[in-house]
Amino acid sequence: MALVNEHYLKLPGNYLFSDIAKKINTFKVTHPGKRLIRLGIGDVTRPLPQACITAMHKAVDEMSKAETFHGYGPEQGYDFLIEAILKNDFASRGISLSPTEIFINDGAKSDTGNIGEVLRWDNSMGVTDPIYPVYIDSNVMCGRSGELGEDGKWSNVTYLPCTAENHFIPQIPDRRIDIIYLCYPNNPTGTTLTKAELKKWVDYALANDTLIFFDAAYEAYIREDDVPHSIYEIKGAKRCAIEFRSFSKTAGFTGVRCGYTVVPKELTAATLDGERVSVNKLWNRRQCTKFNGTSYITQRGAEAIYTAEGKAQVKATIDYYMENARIMREGLQSAGFKVYGGVNAPYIWLKTPDNTGSWRFFEQLLYEVNVVGTPGVGFGPSGEGYLRLTAFGEREDCIEAMRRIRMWI
Ligand SMILES: *Cc1c(COP(=O)(O)O)cnc(C)c1O
Repeated sequence: MALVNEHYLKLPGNYLFSDIAKKINTFKVTHPGKRLIRLGIGDVTRPLPQACITAMHKAVDEMSKAETFHGYGPEQGYDFLIEAILKNDFASRGISLSPTEIFINDGAKSDTGNIGEVLRWDNSMGVTDPIYPVYIDSNVMCGRSGELGEDGKWSNVTYLPCTAENHFIPQIPDRRIDIIYLCYPNNPTGTTLTKAELKKWVDYALANDTLIFFDAAYEAYIREDDVPHSIYEIKGAKRCAIEFRSFSKTAGFTGVRCGYTVVPKELTAATLDGERVSVNKLWNRRQCTKFNGTSYITQRGAEAIYTAEGKAQVKATIDYYMENARIMREGLQSAGFKVYGGVNAPYIWLKTPDNTGSWRFFEQLLYEVNVVGTPGVGFGPSGEGYLRLTAFGEREDCIEAMRRIRMWI
């Protein structure tokens, strides 16, 4: 008899987005002919940069001839991509990393979900709340999160609330935690930490021997000077942080699948006996055993993001989304809503009026103005009373949604 991993059974039955899909379907059946505007999508909509398309076509042609064919590549990724990353994402910001500290992957979800494998199941963990659900759910699966309580919180997870009351700046815990997940610019709130605020976390981690998992999937959306693009801009971070990057939101790679993880050589974790072990070594071992690399074609496509044309095309797309964000942010503000985010991230975090519950406000928007958002509570208990809107839609839809909302108020 094969026994199941019963931790999986603790995961709440429905994923947020399938609940939303059901509600949308009900609406469509009962209101045929109404045009819905979807501002809830967490997926990009603009096509790939032309530079990536050209590079991928070329790579496909190489695969067609025995002389230039590529089979298995290095599990850690090809040097051409790693070199482009080191030069453009780090050296340009004064961060020096070595090629063996970069692990190319098939997207940040895989690695943010898998990284916990190299750590004991009984580490304590903390997350900012609300949060990208992968961080907690992947820990539930190995038993690290504990049990789900009535309040929607897992018993072994420390929640660090981020709300309007604390200006979305999580308070440094008053005790030590083994692993902390930070995501900046943040999904879902669209807010950021300044360099000084992030430094407090690095200092906490160094003082408490805490490991920080830093998700920088939205780094390319940063507009303001004082917002760090990488946690390694902060002194000492190489000794306490792993950083996750993704080409998904940067360059429209959500369907192509490519990202990378930085595991500095200086980073160590302890055995029960107190011996220090290189996390880079463990992660390399894990990847070599369970991962056979991202496709050559994909990595050639990713490399092209760093060419002059690639950079210009990526910038144009991000400018498009960020203009959407501006239109939505200003539109909602002028309609009297309190909104956060949308300045260094493609997400707008809207406070519901009169403390309306997230799901109730979601349904009001759906039924009264036919606009779809994402209920904030779906991202964690502190998301209650908020709704997330994304800037990944069409310009015309953003404008029309704001028109409908203004007329409704
Ligand atoms: C979209 C997103 C990612 C990227 O996931 P991929 O697997 O690279 O597509 C990672 N973290 C957060 C917070 C995200 O929103």
